[in-house]
Amino acid sequence: MSALRVCSLYPDLMNIYADRGNIAVLRARCEWRGLGFELSASGLGEPLDPDSADLFYIGGGQDRDQALVARDMVETKREALHAAAARGAVVLAVCGGYQLLGHGYRVGDSELPGIGLVDLRTVREPGPRLIGNCAIEADLGTGPRVIAGFENHGGRTYLGAGEQPLGRVLKGFGNNGRDGFEGVRRGNVIGTYLHGPLLPKNAWLADRLIELALGVELEPLDDALEDAAHASARRAAGV
Ligand code: GLN
Repeated sequence: MSALRVCSLYPDLMNIYADRGNIAVLRARCEWRGLGFELSASGLGEPLDPDSADLFYIGGGQDRDQALVARDMVETKREALHAAAARGAVVLAVCGGYQLLGHGYRVGDSELPGIGLVDLRTVREPGPRLIGNCAIEADLGTGPRVIAGFENHGGRTYLGAGEQPLGRVLKGFGNNGRDGFEGVRRGNVIGTYLHGPLLPKNAWLADRLIELALGVELEPLDDALEDAAHASARRAAGV
């Protein structure tokens, strides 16, 4: 029987809005189907084996925690994450973690380094934080679907010319409140500003990530409660 191997990056520091709930959902949806689930973690100063997981996860964080993580991630995990992405592992990054996938996050005079896994830059521009319920339309290879969640970020993210967003904003701000796009997707590397946490409100996305990570097709589950959570998140966003 196959198992989903998940590695959580900086689980203590990058867990704003209980983003670790995403891991709980991945675990439950595997176990409910009789699939194994193995969780490992890699924190400050710890090396990372690129072959140790099928899905690497990093959540959101405050600017302060992100500063600690940013330099460490470049030093101890940058190469491994590039190697993991190159062999098709899923990398899911939320908010602060998403910002660190790019080239850097500029706050005032300082620039937090990113691991350059995708071509994007984030800047803390003057102006209000981008806060509120948000819904986007995204196609992860099974037709357009809605992802609903909550965003709260000071940074504005701009994708490079060759990069594809994760989705189109239906309600909310998305990457920068201007261009109508949200997140990034390059192959199995996915970044998004959406918390909720993300996966409890979008069970279909959790399943799709498991499929991409394992190269399998999953049977549907009885998702009455999960569908109600999704509907509630969409209502909150007005979609
Ligand atoms: N600190 C980042 C910002 O404000 C990310 C915040 C978050 O992860 N919610 O832009």
